[in-house]
Amino acid sequence: MLENMIKLINYYSPSENKNKYLKEKLNKLKSIKSEQKLCNFLGCKEVAIDSHEISKGIFLSQISDENNEVNILARDFKGNIRRFYFKKENVKSATTFPGFCAAHDKKIFTSFENGTFTINQDFVQKQSLRTLKKEISLIHDEIKTLSTLIFSPEKHEDIRLLKKNYHGQAKNLKRYQKLFNNLSHSIDKGGSIMQFKIIDDVPNNMVQFSKLRHDIETILGIPLKHAYIFIFLLFNDGKQKLILATFKDKTSNKLMEFLVQNKYFLNEYILINKERFIVSQNFINSLDHVDYNTMLDDNKIIQNKFFLKFMGF
Ligand SMILES: [Zn+2]
Repeated sequence: MLENMIKLINYYSPSENKNKYLKEKLNKLKSIKSEQKLCNFLGCKEVAIDSHEISKGIFLSQISDENNEVNILARDFKGNIRRFYFKKENVKSATTFPGFCAAHDKKIFTSFENGTFTINQDFVQKQSLRTLKKEISLIHDEIKTLSTLIFSPEKHEDIRLLKKNYHGQAKNLKRYQKLFNNLSHSIDKGGSIMQFKIIDDVPNNMVQFSKLRHDIETILGIPLKHAYIFIFLLFNDGKQKLILATFKDKTSNKLMEFLVQNKYFLNEYILINKERFIVSQNFINSLDHVDYNTMLDDNKIIQNKFFLKFMGF
């Protein structure tokens, strides 16, 4: 949510004194309290506890160091807002968000967390459910913030943009909630509303990757630019696999995209899930000074350049 607001503010703010301006705005935004979140799994009205977005058992514990900590790319709110840094966080709390109630979190994900990592319908659906719930949670916060700003007595020079964003996110929220409900029912009944396809030999340059995307669009009949895309990346110097997961209901126009290595026990790899970026200490140690700084540069992050760079494109 804050990331989106920063982009919004950056757009209208002059370059001079930008850091100061951003800090003032962000302090105001932070004072807007987010609402208590509910579980909503099959309409459950219990209060959500902190759930992991990214599996602790399957993924986070594999890239944690001897203190059970992983490195998460975080914005430097206290210092220079235009820069990022790597924040160490214990796998217990890393990537958690108000997701599901205690009972459902246990019921849905225990087998997932304790099981062996297998790419199957169950994995795809449950991982998608978490990502979707996290998106819904973020959109809720953003809508709350936007509406507070729009209806505040204080005048905003960017009111039109705020309203445009508000309406756009309200639409997204409806779509995502519908998808979440369908997915919840499917998981509950052991159904399979998703289909997935595993592609070996992931292309290692941009030209090949673009072609692959085109092929996927042709196969699925869904334009990627209109799709809900979820990128889940795990890679190191081992071979990667691309897992494409889509919803069977093609009219919903949703597509999910996963990129996963075929060996999950490696000790040095990177996780990218949407704009959230989690890496092992080994990975950080392997970076030279220039690469390290490139990664922490605000503009590079926003333009997704470093994703491509570090994916080898
Ligand atoms: Zn519940």
